[in-house]
Amino acid sequence: MFVIDAHLDLSMNALEWNRDLTRPLVEVNQREEGLTDKPDRANAVVTLPELRKGNIGLVVATQIGRYVAPGNPLPGWHSPEQAWAQTQGQVAWYKAMEDAGEMVQVNDLPSLDKHLELWNDGTPSEKKPVGYILSLEGADSIVTVKHLERAYNYGLRAVGPAHYGHGRYAQGTDATGYMGPKGHELLREMERLNIILDATHLCDDSFWEALDHFSGHVWASHNNCRALVNHNRQYSDEMIKALIDRGAVIGAALDAWMMVPGWVRGVSTPKGMNCNMEVMVDHIDHICQIAGNALHVGMGTDLDGAFGREQCPYDLETIADLQKVPDLLKKRGYTDADIQNMMHGNWLRFLRNALA
Ligand SMILES: [Zn+2]
Repeated sequence: MFVIDAHLDLSMNALEWNRDLTRPLVEVNQREEGLTDKPDRANAVVTLPELRKGNIGLVVATQIGRYVAPGNPLPGWHSPEQAWAQTQGQVAWYKAMEDAGEMVQVNDLPSLDKHLELWNDGTPSEKKPVGYILSLEGADSIVTVKHLERAYNYGLRAVGPAHYGHGRYAQGTDATGYMGPKGHELLREMERLNIILDATHLCDDSFWEALDHFSGHVWASHNNCRALVNHNRQYSDEMIKALIDRGAVIGAALDAWMMVPGWVRGVSTPKGMNCNMEVMVDHIDHICQIAGNALHVGMGTDLDGAFGREQCPYDLETIADLQKVPDLLKKRGYTDADIQNMMHGNWLRFLRNALA
């Protein structure tokens, strides 16, 4: 089945983890053996060949660059200009992947249709470029609101104003507080340019404020449910309801700490916590029960978001194992039409509407 994954940090992996994502997964992991600078060394589950193997022909791929003020303990750049430059390197990598025939940017309806035609022409996927919709996770790198149009011109189609902590335009996970005038200005410019608002990572205050001040298209690229794992990073039922009312699609994430309660980073193990792909279906099902249908959830795995096998379902060896999800959904009683919607149809409906 054709799969769309609405959240991967491919360029971050290429440039900060120094992973050549064109290579086979085994080779990428072999090269990392013995390294300890990142928590997920030698545990990668995402490469371009694995995406093809899993028939994951379209992804939302991020740029990411945080600004940190003095005293902010999170990793990040000391000026917005440095963060911008980091994201420009990331764009350069995506463009290099396009030049190499490894990826192709999808940024409007014709490019979307052309790409879907290629992936559904019945020939093997091994040689096909992986399509990507360019997104920005955390808007700190947008030096001034004017930079947004420059970003739109190289293909940016979705922005999550916040990531972790205090942001320049919005407050993110583990922070509290509002977006304020600068955030509103960003939202207005996103609306003018028809850029999708990614509500993921907005803290509760900023989340409600963003929905109030933005009348464009809203999705949540990678988010699970607070009712199942109680943390501010997750959505309350009320937030899920509000997103559904806005026609949003919510991507189910495969980061173990967001799937099972009580996960302790670096200590817990997927087997020990009984974290498997069934748990993902629990979160998906929770959203479907609130919606009363299967139209508002999709895949948004985040499987290369600074974690790998040590912190994802134990029955997933590579991202290609997303092909196991349809059977799990079927066991829960979902129809074939529901399953197709959740694996790709909901994102496609959203994109057709948003890119029109
Ligand atoms: Zn994230």
